[in-house]
Amino acid sequence: MSAEIYAIRYSSREAQAHEHFYRAAPCHGDMPMAYYVWLVRTEQATVLLDTGFTAAKSEALGRPYHGAPLETAAELGAGRIDHLVLSHLHFDHTGHIGEVADATVHIQQREMQFWLGRHAGVGEYAALCDPDDLSALVHANVAGRLRWLDGDADLVPGVTLHLVGGHTPGSQVVRVETDRGPVVLAADASHFYANYENRAPYAIAHTLPLMYDAFERLAELAGPEGLVIPGHDPLVMERFPSAGPGLEGRAVRIA
Ligand SMILES: [Zn+2]
Repeated sequence: MSAEIYAIRYSSREAQAHEHFYRAAPCHGDMPMAYYVWLVRTEQATVLLDTGFTAAKSEALGRPYHGAPLETAAELGAGRIDHLVLSHLHFDHTGHIGEVADATVHIQQREMQFWLGRHAGVGEYAALCDPDDLSALVHANVAGRLRWLDGDADLVPGVTLHLVGGHTPGSQVVRVETDRGPVVLAADASHFYANYENRAPYAIAHTLPLMYDAFERLAELAGPEGLVIPGHDPLVMERFPSAGPGLEGRAVRIA
């Protein structure tokens, strides 16, 4: 069985193009944002990349909710999640951690350290993380379920994790070998196709040079035949077929 990859869209919001590029690159007009988690199934394991935010959070933010990510994953036949990979710890990637209680959680050490450190409560950082989600991670850690990474790592055969940083201190991306070639799930190393294709960093930058380096790393990991899948681009829902009847608008199959 070749690896299967699904993008699950759980929320969305209206936005303007200038919000999505560092120092507001000259661009105008509507540029809505989609919110995803990704499900990867191989012969050996079921892997979830990120967990999205909850329905309650969505209501608090006044954003539409298209379905709880874990429920959509279950509709896709996910059953038990063996591995949860966290690309980074912004709130739109970390809800529901407590609900994936059996999974091993794979996270970069420098990401954990940053959000458990003194800057989490400073300025805009406080709005970018969710203390309840961080607390769920602390619980998972004390329960011995966290795998702390410091750099690139193997996950299961055909699936590897790669530290890129840039957007946050320990942002990581996932590379999956499939029948159609390598697929690189960039998450927020490239929010939109346009960030990666134009080498134009997103507006939220922790370390700008590493954001540029991350684009080159994505290209390297995908290779000439591979695909780079951005983390927040509504176009993903158009470029790939629906994952099945009843899942239109909520899940597409990438491989
Ligand atoms: Zn995000």
